[in-house]
Amino acid sequence: MSRMQVDHDLCTLCGQCVEACPFDGVEIRGQAIEFTDSCRLCRLCIKACPVGALWLEESEAVGTVDKAEYQGVLVFAEQRQGQIQPVTYELIGKGLELARQLDEPVAVFLAGNNIKPQAERLLQYGVDRVYLYDHPKLEHFRIEPYTALMVELVGEIKPNIILMGATSVGRSLAPRVAARLRTGLTADCTSLSVKANGDLVQTRPAFGGNVMAQIITPRHRPQMATVRYKVMPAASKVAKPHGKIVHCQIDEKLLQSGIEVLGFRPHHMVDSITDADIIVAGGRGIGRPEGLELLGELADLLGGMVGVTRPLVEQGWASYTQQVGMSGRTVRPRLYVACGISGAIQHVAGMRGSDVIFAINTDPNAAIFDAAHYGLVGDLYEIVPNLIQRLKEGGSLDAVFQAG
Ligand SMILES: Cc1cc2nc3c(=O)[nH]c(=O)nc-3n(C[C@H](O)[C@H](O)[C@H](O)COP(=O)(O)OP(=O)(O)OC[C@H]3O[C@@H](n4cnc5c(N)ncnc54)[C@H](O)[C@@H]3O)c2cc1C
Repeated sequence: MSRMQVDHDLCTLCGQCVEACPFDGVEIRGQAIEFTDSCRLCRLCIKACPVGALWLEESEAVGTVDKAEYQGVLVFAEQRQGQIQPVTYELIGKGLELARQLDEPVAVFLAGNNIKPQAERLLQYGVDRVYLYDHPKLEHFRIEPYTALMVELVGEIKPNIILMGATSVGRSLAPRVAARLRTGLTADCTSLSVKANGDLVQTRPAFGGNVMAQIITPRHRPQMATVRYKVMPAASKVAKPHGKIVHCQIDEKLLQSGIEVLGFRPHHMVDSITDADIIVAGGRGIGRPEGLELLGELADLLGGMVGVTRPLVEQGWASYTQQVGMSGRTVRPRLYVACGISGAIQHVAGMRGSDVIFAINTDPNAAIFDAAHYGLVGDLYEIVPNLIQRLKEGGSLDAVFQAG
């Protein structure tokens, strides 16, 4: 690992490096400058030092990974209660696309109890291998055995890329696996592509969503990314599956865990906007909380659900589970009706994958119209009641768009 170094003979303990560090990564301890765990190796202290006493020592280990040894994409198949979670099919879709470009195989890691039928189902999506870990102790997700088995498999098959869902399971498993493998991990990617040399270009919002950062892992393998549900299209079944199931031997030692699952009680599931086919979303332009009732009426008529922008959640007008965007839910409905929404990048990041986006805004220059397929410039309090009336009179959605 790279490390900051200090020439104590040159250092005058002036403290300018301490002041320059935005992360509290440098301290004066006794008569010496020391770097803490918070140091991000950003080099601001080097620039600030008036006597040139600081430098970054690059690790000799850098560049020692033989990239050619790592081939293919490995997808973590998440199952709950024996059912494959839908994000898995989206990861397979992306994995197949990346692997096609590299001319490399796609494998899936699946762990569970009596889970072979699900392994067979995964093969129908055109993957080359499903590595199956079937054991009563793997019925529920427990972090230690899942990590140990995944790390063991990676050691054997050496994948170039590992994809996991940015779910609560993926978000706890991915960093553990990455840390054990001493490799990089990019969380919550919104887009993934691959260079000809096999480097994965991992795109995700950064700096509060103001920039889309492209992150690569040029010196380590495998390259690991988590991807949120509904950000990428799901794979389709293939006409002639060709893959194979590999029944993996399980070393009992790897199943040890400090966690005992006493039982499983399903959470009462409320319909989630993530799965909604149609979303009518309201922004600050609704002006008052009652506006959401109007949007609710439209959503009911369309058989959809109501989504909101973050300011409405902050005002307490709607629940966080309805928030669409970078810090809320990512959605991919057939139709997204955006009412009184300006189209901030943080909001659009969560809904731009919708099949059809229909925006209503009084401002003809609102950014939402750049993301929308259809738009109406005008007051939502005139347009939405009009739409509701037309639908009540038996008008179809198509007719509504024509009217627009
Ligand atoms: C780190 C970070 C994360 C964030 N995450 C999210 C997120 O997940 N989701 C999210 O939504 N935001 C998020 N935001 C906030 C985001 O930056 C914007 O502030 C927010 O999306 C704006 O919401 P809005 O469009 O409802 O409001 P505004 O930007 O105020 O837009 C209101 C719009 O309504 C229009 N309007 C006004 N009256 C009417 C009317 N009567 N009829 C029709 N149109 C009308 C106006 O012309 C305007 O375009 C985040 C911000 C940060 C910094």
